[in-house]
Parts: sequence; C-alpha cells; structure tokens
Amino acid sequence: MDFDVLTLFPQMFSSLKESIIGRAVKDKIININTVNIRDFSKNKHNKVDDTPYGGGAGMVIMPDVVYRAYNSLENKENAKVIYMSPQGKKLNQKKVLELSKEKHLIILCGHYEGIDQRVLDKIVDEEISIGDYVLTGGELPAMVLIDSVSRYVEGVLSKDSIKEESFSNNLLEYPQYTRPEIFEGIKVPEILLSGNHKEIEKWRNEKSLETTKNKRPDLLE
Ligand code: SAM
Repeated sequence: MDFDVLTLFPQMFSSLKESIIGRAVKDKIININTVNIRDFSKNKHNKVDDTPYGGGAGMVIMPDVVYRAYNSLENKENAKVIYMSPQGKKLNQKKVLELSKEKHLIILCGHYEGIDQRVLDKIVDEEISIGDYVLTGGELPAMVLIDSVSRYVEGVLSKDSIKEESFSNNLLEYPQYTRPEIFEGIKVPEILLSGNHKEIEKWRNEKSLETTKNKRPDLLE
C-alpha cells in the first residue's frame, strides 16, 4: 500500500521508521513518501501561508502551493485524498478497515489556521478527524491514520494478532498475561495454565464481554 503525505513538517514522520511499521516499510509491504509543501512555494522566502481574508487570527496555507505539491505526485488518479481535519468524520476501527482496502492514500496535513478552502474542494475526497479536539497540525493525526491502517494491510501483522483484538465484534479484548506466573504475589488466572483451549476460549469470551461492560458499555448498545 502506498501513502503519500503532503506536509510542512516531513521530518516528524521519521518516528514511523520504528517497530512494526518500520519493518513493513523495510519489507516493502507499505511505502510512506512525504512531500514537503514548502518546496512548492514560489515565494523567495519560501512563504506558504498568509493572513485570512475577512480578518481574524492566525495564518492560512495558500491553495496554489498545496495544489502544486499535490500535482507533483505520480499515479494519483486512483488514489484517495484524505485531509486530516478536526471537522472530519471521526476515525474508528470500521473506517480503518475500509481504508486498509485502498491501494494508495494521499494524506494532506494542515497547520496554523488550516488550508484555503478552494484547494480542499478541488482535491480532497474525504476529511478525517482523530477526535473532538484541536491539534497544532495534521502530522500526528496522519501518523495515527497510517499506523492504524497499516496494521490491517496483509503481511504487516499475523492474521491471529488482528482477529481478536479490541473493537472486533464491537467488544474490547480480554485481559492478557505473560511470565512470570506469580508477580508480587498475584497469580495468573489458573485457567490460562490449564492447556484446555476450549475452556480458555470460553473464559476469554466472558472476560471480553465483562471488560466491555465495565469500560465501554456504549459499544454494547
Ligand atoms: N482552524 C481549524 C478549525 O477550527 O477547524 C483548526 C486548524 S488546526 C489548528 C491545524 C491543522 O491541524 C488542521 O488543518 C488539521 O490538518 C490538523 N488537525 C487539528 N486537529 C485535528 C484533529 N482532531 N484531527 C485531524 N486533524 C487535525
């Protein structure tokens, strides 16, 4: 799967070189390409933003710079263009799964007061928010999107890892335990040591339901 990210701060994406996503990039299962919007400024000071028409605080990213950055991308005809925005549809597991079926995502990150509406109307297919709060830029939201979507791209994780995790079947996952068997006097639940897979599965289903009831009863509604 290909991700092209249009951003003013490409260096922020270096954290995606770590761990599982980093390995998926190395193995060429996913490809993350960042494009610095500032490289497409025609201003001698590399300016990319200006004051808002109509007045008000802050700066707005200019449409032509973003459009040139977008047009520099190859093979964009079949790509889906996503603008990370607090005004977008809230990201959830269903949306993550849906996006993981795409072959190519172009992710646009805003900054300051945002981006001139005209270029958004021209190139964006969908606006996505990572929650009802406002961040300084779209870079962290874009990384959240790339991380969550990549986990569902075939080959990034084992099929078993994603089959039973939180939000599958609208339930949260059961509690997990590992060695040592006794930690600070607290023993791992006996059933998990029994080797009885049928009983373990039954216990996990019960715990999953109990955890969801306690932590996120809204998921059961
Ligand atoms: N003035 C905008 C508004 O009130 O809707 C907020 C702009 S915000 C300070 C700057 C940029 O951060 C946005 O253009 C967007 O790309 C990104 N951003 C901020 N919060 C976000 C969120 N919750 N989800 C996704 N992107 C967000």
